[in-house]
Amino acid sequence: MRGDNVLTRRERLLFAFHEAGHCVGAEAFGLPVQRVCVFHYAQPRGDGLMAGYTERVHTDAAPIRESIGLAAGAIAEDRARATLGLPPADPVGASRDDAMSESFLRGFTPAVRARARTFAEAAVTEQWPAVEAIAAALLARSHLDGAEVRRIIARVRAVH
Ligand SMILES: [Zn+2]
Repeated sequence: MRGDNVLTRRERLLFAFHEAGHCVGAEAFGLPVQRVCVFHYAQPRGDGLMAGYTERVHTDAAPIRESIGLAAGAIAEDRARATLGLPPADPVGASRDDAMSESFLRGFTPAVRARARTFAEAAVTEQWPAVEAIAAALLARSHLDGAEVRRIIARVRAVH
């Protein structure tokens, strides 16, 4: 990250995959996305910097489903990193938003969290073409609303 907080092309690409992973993971488990965004400039948040976000429609979903949607961001980001020959993201630095979001899930046992991660990995793997398509749309337009996200997922599912 440069001093002026402008995201490089590669950083933006990785954050787009990260947010696309949240979208696919959440939607796959019935948590509707309201809006997703990847910034051009990192913005201060808490102790770190934020480069995008995925907002979901509030539901009374069980925390394990929330946890699946959260885990899917880092999983998709790491998969994109692997395709570029990069090592997995630093779990603290790159997933800081998840660390914050997950604070409310701390009561979860490691076994439940591992289970959520398994579900998230399956969703990201099965729907990787949708993750790629959402990431591409985010890089082109920076913002998508939930209806656009669901259209992309449905369109990709129809051809794969
Ligand atoms: Zn995240």
